Amino acid sequence: MANLSSVIINKEFYDIDKSEIDTYKRVAFNTPLSELMQRASKKRDAYWGKMITYSKKVFVPLTNMCRDTCSYCTFVKHPDDPEAKIMSPDEVLKSARKGENSGCKELLFSLGEKPEKRYAKPKKALAALGYSTMTDYLYDMCKLVIGETSLLPHVNAGTLSEYELKKLKNVSASMGMMLETTSKRLNKKGEAHYACPDKVPIQRIRTLVAAGSSKVPFTTGILIGIGETFDERIEALLLLEKINNRYGHIQEVIIQNFQRKPNIEMAEHPEPSLNDMLQTIALARIILSPSISIQAPPNLEQEHIEYIDAGINDWGGISPVTKDFINPQHPWPNIDALATMVRNAGFELGERLTVYPKFNTRQFLSPTISAHISKSANKLHPIDKPKKLESA
Ligand code: SF4
Repeated sequence: MANLSSVIINKEFYDIDKSEIDTYKRVAFNTPLSELMQRASKKRDAYWGKMITYSKKVFVPLTNMCRDTCSYCTFVKHPDDPEAKIMSPDEVLKSARKGENSGCKELLFSLGEKPEKRYAKPKKALAALGYSTMTDYLYDMCKLVIGETSLLPHVNAGTLSEYELKKLKNVSASMGMMLETTSKRLNKKGEAHYACPDKVPIQRIRTLVAAGSSKVPFTTGILIGIGETFDERIEALLLLEKINNRYGHIQEVIIQNFQRKPNIEMAEHPEPSLNDMLQTIALARIILSPSISIQAPPNLEQEHIEYIDAGINDWGGISPVTKDFINPQHPWPNIDALATMVRNAGFELGERLTVYPKFNTRQFLSPTISAHISKSANKLHPIDKPKKLESA
């Protein structure tokens, strides 16, 4: 089977009209930031009310090997690194149980992209476990989690084919893959995505479209500050809106800020400022359909509470048991402390599941996942849902 989706992408999905980009650029540059944020907040309030949500989850980095080499990544380990690994089923289960015992409802499988296609070591390690691809191993690990715990798997496995998405949909409540950027320039030598076959924008667009046609509740987003221009940032948001308009499967868009870390190729690259984040969050809220949850991580910016004023309605996943494996130097906020900060900002903090209520339908969830949710309904639905969410 081909590595990447064989879905034919219509030009409509990647051809964003330059005049549309210019319109939003003018809005961004000609409107004072405070006014832009007010506009965005008003749109958020009308749909999501005064609730800011998060998902209590346990992170399971199934493998930290990857065939890509993004210049900002600290998660990935070369197969020759003693820390490179594939988690065993026992380790997966141990983490899952720890998360379940701490009140998590979601288990996030995050993993590098197809290391077995590039390196002999992960291929051999997978074979020793009885598998030829990471996707097949991931499928069985999702099944294991569903069989042994009340947790709902969310899968972050990067670019996937339509076949892989449909297979994984049977055993996961939702999936995700950051679009990151639409910039092809960043695949050139010296740029953030040089020699990263899975970071060629069209491959990510293919996965987004295939997820749409497969009706997978999907999380995506953009990574800002990795060398993209302001136009490219707007282009990425417009593209996500276009794809969602066609398939209606995007439940969340994350606005994530690049973080400088020692020992990465981009160690000296400037980080986006707080104002860059606020402006991009506000623009995302203005560009995207109101039903799309807009999320920004609370652990990557000290003044994250200001994101609320820019229009977010969600913090994403917060774990009481595992670190942020992608940004290990930034600990998760304490949930009680975050609740107080959110309350002081005039909102309420609410816990949600990995799959949003409007996607809890036969079209979007497999019978196995629906049964898993209803079996544990009392345990899995302790939160007040955002008021407008159900009727949307
Ligand atoms: S960011 Fe993701 S795709 Fe890039 S090297 Fe790291 S794990 Fe691989």
